[in-house]
Amino acid sequence: MGKVLFTTSWDDGHALDLRVAELLAKHGFKGTFFIPGRVAPGGACNPEGFPVIDTSELRALDSAFELGSHTLDHSYLDAVPPEEARRQVEAGKQWLEDQLGRPVEGFCYPGGHHNAAVRQIVREAGFRYARTTEELHHDVGSDPYRIPVALQFYPRALKGIVKTFIKGAHPWQERRVFGAAITRQELGARLRAVLDRLVEKGGVFHFWGHSWEVEKFGGWTVLDAFLRYAAERVPPEDRVTTMDLAHKPEESADWRPAAAA
Ligand SMILES: [Zn+2]
Repeated sequence: MGKVLFTTSWDDGHALDLRVAELLAKHGFKGTFFIPGRVAPGGACNPEGFPVIDTSELRALDSAFELGSHTLDHSYLDAVPPEEARRQVEAGKQWLEDQLGRPVEGFCYPGGHHNAAVRQIVREAGFRYARTTEELHHDVGSDPYRIPVALQFYPRALKGIVKTFIKGAHPWQERRVFGAAITRQELGARLRAVLDRLVEKGGVFHFWGHSWEVEKFGGWTVLDAFLRYAAERVPPEDRVTTMDLAHKPEESADWRPAAAA
């Protein structure tokens, strides 16, 4: 049996984040929500655009979960000039701090887009970590500005996951964990398979998603059932936020990158 650090993070600040929060609270999990100042039409994963939850809702969420920044306009930071990237990062941080009345130190790259220059800008803005969308990892990575994830809460086609698996050049330790999971067609089964392997060997389980996508693909029952399954396997002290993950891993070698283990 290994120790599993379990977390989940949700991007974009959609009103349905409150429904995710309800389910996390119901099953006793922590989590992180990454909030952009606004999501403009055409500028987001959701091409229709949508309003971000209001100040009182953000504060309610902040009282029970970690909130982090997701730029001002959900901007893909590697696709804009450096001065605009800096403005997006700094103004997004300021905007969320104004809403919450406290410092904001967690960050997530919109669309998972980042490069060395972007990571430097995020660090200089005063963030202590940044989450990516780099999938099929069961550790915290070696760079706090490049926190990887295990799986997306989305019924991705098997073909896409296998492609990530092959392209990722993951160390064999990770292949052993995710090899079992990627053969499962159904999202819930896939998540359970990865968690089962990690309960055996230890590691980080970080799944992420978009609440508006859960609604779109009808995934609420799957999310509820998976959190119930996880609650039976992960003790309360191992249920963490992304900030905990980024700054607690020294406590155990299990959470370091597999390549360095
Ligand atoms: Zn996003």
